[in-house]
This record gives sequence, structure tokens and C-alpha cells, in this order.
Amino acid sequence: MSSAEPSHSPGCLIEARDVVKSFGQTPALRGASVSAAAGEILAIMGPSGSGKSTLLHCLAGIFKPDSGQVWFDGTRLDELSETRRTELRRTAFGFVFQFGQLVPELSTADNIALPLLLNRVRRKTAYQAADSWLKRLALAETGARRTGELSGGQAQRVALARALAPRPKVIFADEPTGSLDSLASENVMDLLVGMAREEGTTVVLVTHDARVAAYADREVMVRDGKVTSPLDPVDAAGRHAGAEVGSQ
Ligand code: ADP
Repeated sequence: MSSAEPSHSPGCLIEARDVVKSFGQTPALRGASVSAAAGEILAIMGPSGSGKSTLLHCLAGIFKPDSGQVWFDGTRLDELSETRRTELRRTAFGFVFQFGQLVPELSTADNIALPLLLNRVRRKTAYQAADSWLKRLALAETGARRTGELSGGQAQRVALARALAPRPKVIFADEPTGSLDSLASENVMDLLVGMAREEGTTVVLVTHDARVAAYADREVMVRDGKVTSPLDPVDAAGRHAGAEVGSQ
């Protein structure tokens, strides 16, 4: 590698650098930079429409940035082919969204086993792993039930188990408690953080809820498509120094 060649920052497992992404005429990210170390739990906060979800989708290799770089484990994710990115998402990343996106007609155990079967894990091994995750997440009694019959909190715990079962390096969680009451939210966050710590999984968590962000090791703010840290100095107008003053 020549000295002029940019490389990922040392110590980072995943990093976005100066990422720009627009949807037609709508700018979503205007040079966003953020990184997370292995095993770190990072919360991405910010108002609605600021670019949080777009940043998460760029970090996860779902969206390709218009410009800038995305690094994962020393590799330029944004330069990989769609096939390689899909493969990586299946093996190295896990996803939890606001609505678990489980298959409602399938049983809880089937939903957890599914990503393992897609990764060519043997059927027996996949279902043994599903059972063990159901026990760890206090869902053992739901194994044979269809996920469409579960409560919101139970369904999110199944979504967690499904994301964790392939033992990903990074879990991307986009408003994972957005549809839950506060008790169920706490329960899901306790489990997400507890399991991530046990497994050494990095978590990138998008939320607008300060109580959810409080579970993270570190918080960053997205404003107007750029990332600022709550530790950045704030000017007299209450704007972070890293934010583009006057941009709308
Ligand atoms: P947040 O997650 O902070 O609510 P988003 O990343 O979803 O913000 O959106 C950032 C901006 O990009 C918003 O103006 C939004 O309307 C726009 N946007 C996001 N996704 C799309 C899309 N698929 N098509 C068009 N515009 C989009």
C-alpha cells in the first residue's frame, strides 16, 4: 500500500469517513464521519430526518455512499461488489429494526434458525443453536409458537436472538425499542447490551431516545447530515463546533 493510500483508522472495527449520500435532490448525509471499536456499543442520536438511518445503512453496506469511504475490519466496504456485501451482511452483521421483521407464519425457533440455514449450517445444529438462544433470552416456552402470536417485547427478543445466532461481529440496531413500552424497552436493551458484552459484539444503535442511548459506551449526534460528538465544544448559539453553522 502506498503512503498516499488512505487506510482505516487503527483500532476501529467499522468506520464511515466523509460519507455523502443524497436521495435525488434530498441530501441525507453531507460528509458524515463516525467509527466504532471492536466490542464498543455506539449510540447514534439526532432529530428525525437528520440522517441517522442513512448513516447506519451506509455503515452496514446496504447503501453505497455517493462519496466518502466505509471501512469494515480493514476492508473498503463501499468498494466491494453487491454480491460480496450481501455475503458480508449475512455472515458478519446482524440487524434489529423497529419492527422485528420476523416471518410471522414461522415458529420462533424457525425464525432464529433461518439465518443459520442460509449460512449453510446443518439443520440439527441450527435448531440446537436456536433452542439455546431461546433459553438465553428467556423465550424457551415460545419455541413452537408462530412469531405473529407473540407480544411486541417477545417478538423483539426473538429478533435479537435471530441477529445474534450467526455470531456477527457487528449488530446494527435501528430504533430497536421504537414500538415498545418502557418496561419492554428496558428488557430488550438489557438483553441486547448483556449479550453483546458476553459475545464481544460491536453494536451500532440508532435511537432518538436518550434512555436507550444511555446503554451505550459512547454517543454521537447527527445533525444536518453530519456527525458531532456531545463532547464537542458548543458555541454561544448552542451549535456544536463540528456542525455546519447556518446550514439547513
Ligand atoms: P433519520 O434516521 O435521522 O430520521 P434518515 O436517514 O431516515 O433520517 O433521512 C435523512 C433524509 O434523507 C431525510 O430528509 C429523508 O427524508 C431522506 N431520505 C431517507 N431515505 C430516503 C429514501 N429512501 N428516499 C428519499 N429520501 C430519503
